[in-house]
Amino acid sequence: MKKRGYTLIKKTKPKMKEAEKSVDDFVRELKEANTAKNDYREQSLRIHGLICAKCAREFDYKDRHLLTVHHKDGNHKNNPQDGSNWENLCVYCHDDEHSRGLLGDYLSKEK
Ligand SMILES: [Zn+2]
Ligand SMILES: [Zn+2]
Repeated sequence: MKKRGYTLIKKTKPKMKEAEKSVDDFVRELKEANTAKNDYREQSLRIHGLICAKCAREFDYKDRHLLTVHHKDGNHKNNPQDGSNWENLCVYCHDDEHSRGLLGDYLSKEK
């Protein structure tokens, strides 16, 4: 009788561990999702260079935060690895490109 009870407790233990693991996985997935978001920006800067595609203003490592990635089709989830949907625009040209307050939303998401 005692042994049976012990066995039952043993069986529940792995289940608890699995639950803990899934929380860790969830957190890890969140972190990875955040990294992926920043990644396309880095990739676009690498592919197209630190230069605004519109006004040709050049940036260096220090003020690269003024250079933003514009999605040509307006879909921020469309991130082809060859950079064909990206355009590096300075914040001024990017603002001009959207012109209707979309940029405010875009920039707040970036941060
Ligand atoms: Zn510009
Ligand atoms: Zn844009």
